[in-house]
Amino acid sequence: MPSSAREILKKYFGYDNFRPQQEDIVNQIVSGNDVLVLMPTGGGKSICYQVPALIRDGVCIVISPLISLMKDQVDALRSNGIAAAFLNSSQSFQEQQAILESCYKKEIALLYVSPEKLIGELTMITQMARPSMFAIDEAHCISAWGHDFRPEYTQLGLLREKFSNVPFVALTATADKVTRKDIVKQLNLRNPEIFISSFDRKNLSLDVRVGVKTKQKLQEIAEFIDVRRDSSGIIYCLSRNTCEDVAQALKNYGINAAFYHAGMPAEARSKVQEEFLKDELQVVCATVAFGMGIDKSNVRWVIHYNLPKNMEGYYQEIGRAGRDGLPSETILYYNYADLLMLNKFAAESGQSEINLEKLNRIQHYAEADICRRKILLNYFSENLEQNCGNCDVCKNPRKHFNGTVLVQKALSAIARMGEKEGASMLIDVLRGSRKAEVIEAGYDKLKTHGVGSEIGAIDWQRYIMQMLNLGIIEMAYDEDFALKITAYGRDILFGKSKAELTVLQPLVKKEKSVAAPKAERYNQEEELFNRLRQVRRQFSLEEDVPAYVIFSDATLQQMAKERPLSPSEMLEISGVGEFKFEKYGQVFLDTISGFMGSTGNLKQKGDTYLETLTLLKEGLTVSQVAAKRKLHEMTIYSHIANLYVNNKIKSINALVSSEEVETVREASRILNEKTALKPLYEYLHEEIPYHKIRLALAVIEREELVN
Ligand code: ADP
Ligand code: ZN
Repeated sequence: MPSSAREILKKYFGYDNFRPQQEDIVNQIVSGNDVLVLMPTGGGKSICYQVPALIRDGVCIVISPLISLMKDQVDALRSNGIAAAFLNSSQSFQEQQAILESCYKKEIALLYVSPEKLIGELTMITQMARPSMFAIDEAHCISAWGHDFRPEYTQLGLLREKFSNVPFVALTATADKVTRKDIVKQLNLRNPEIFISSFDRKNLSLDVRVGVKTKQKLQEIAEFIDVRRDSSGIIYCLSRNTCEDVAQALKNYGINAAFYHAGMPAEARSKVQEEFLKDELQVVCATVAFGMGIDKSNVRWVIHYNLPKNMEGYYQEIGRAGRDGLPSETILYYNYADLLMLNKFAAESGQSEINLEKLNRIQHYAEADICRRKILLNYFSENLEQNCGNCDVCKNPRKHFNGTVLVQKALSAIARMGEKEGASMLIDVLRGSRKAEVIEAGYDKLKTHGVGSEIGAIDWQRYIMQMLNLGIIEMAYDEDFALKITAYGRDILFGKSKAELTVLQPLVKKEKSVAAPKAERYNQEEELFNRLRQVRRQFSLEEDVPAYVIFSDATLQQMAKERPLSPSEMLEISGVGEFKFEKYGQVFLDTISGFMGSTGNLKQKGDTYLETLTLLKEGLTVSQVAAKRKLHEMTIYSHIANLYVNNKIKSINALVSSEEVETVREASRILNEKTALKPLYEYLHEEIPYHKIRLALAVIEREELVN
């Protein structure tokens, strides 16, 4: 087994680089430390524990709340050639026994198990599968402050002490500051390093449409889907009935849609889920019950037909779009009727205070007049300096004014009240109220009492919301919603920063007209992409796994763009690991070369080589050609190698010496490796750079062609 984290990343997952923080997280775990990982959906949490699992000796026990999710993750790992399994109560005793025995024989690197199963059979499971580490996925489920508390998670706290020699990693996509602290406490994490990735998912566009009536809403959605014929999407609805109605309405428009909710029989649900995963079903109209178990990376859009209950849920749901990093769209429909209904739910729920406050925040997100991504990120305690340019407000800006003085009034009142009061007391004080609570607390004696009397209470509320959204203040749920001043807020209070506020708009907004459908872009790249998708689909049906488990959309798009024609070019595509290359590489290569041969496209690929050749002949260096063509240098070297093999270039002696060729020839003979660069590179102690190996292989290949 290769030992370095990077090698594992390339070999098994086909990725050249870790994303920011992944490598640090992996290193911490490998050296035995606890960590808490906060990363948005699609951020790449799995890699953080899957790579160390392949390095540390023993079985990595992954605790995950949902059985369907486990199965998909295990399928995905296996498709990368990684030994993984899951344990759950749907398996027979014999099956479970067999899995545990494989663990005992060290044949399994990762074992997925639900919290109740693990705690219920702790001794047996851990005696058989000697844990190398524990990974607790969806860790926010342990906290009652989170939005998805699961009692079965609470017992996980006892693990830390029992297994004192192995590291614990807790992972979540959603946790505000309070929940974060609580996760560490409840799991008894040992001095954990906390990694907080940016929650900014730049590839997701944000759009909120206010007050659109049902009939028009359906028509807008149908039109939206109509111009996105091949792309999968989810429509989240508040109630089961709505899911069914919306699905039916879309079917009437001729759209391949179905519904999904918890009230359906289990088989019907898994059928919808499977078909969606395999790209046989384009649209699912679902309650929030749908998605926790969905790891599908090529969901291209998510629509909220109704307002979600809270920001956490909303963020997680839109986060299901574009996990492969490609541009994806989200739309939230918001109207007053939804709000009333949700208010009722929240008021009647067990934790009404928290739930009402959380609803309040999403309401203000939906009504906001400033960059939506700023608000969203702020909610997760992150500041976005610039407007995002990819939300409806940025695309259609509201008017602003310098609100520094207004904000300073509020901040100074908050400070004078010791940062222990909520919004309603603040407004009372600002407006100079003489209510009993105000007098009792002695707030009528404060300098700030009455300094904001010229602004109405409702407007103050909206300004306070803007301040929250801008990260000037924050709300402590665990201290009776007391308002606290952030570091940024302090800068404003002390005159070091200015506050830009938005001119308040009338509360009822006009309906928006539908955006004109985009002209359909259909070019050769897309055509090849679609062919590759068909090949992928074939494999997905044969192996009975979701399509994206074979290759993600991002990987297929890169193939369609770069059109690899040789194994080494194919292995350079991100997402093509060795195991997958062995299994599928040739078929995809054949598809690409077939495509290029069929429609005179070969000329096109030839064109790109010739373009490189022309520039080289003009005397440009490789790096100049790369810069000019906006391609990697390695790609240019690859072009040169191809041009040389095809006799378009007479000699490449200047780029690779005959000594180097001989060294590579010898290594290639010993390793029996004619295409993959990495093994050669490593065998040669990284002394000959990749591009030279590539060129040397071309020299060898041409000799073989000649002989
Ligand atoms: P999360 O669990 O955080 O929602 P995943 O672990 O499912 O996210 O990762 C999301 C996508 O990003 C997957 O398709 C995954 O293969 C891909 N990915 C993760 N890490 C990398 C990386 N270092 N380079 C390229 N793609 C990556
Ligand atoms: Zn924006």
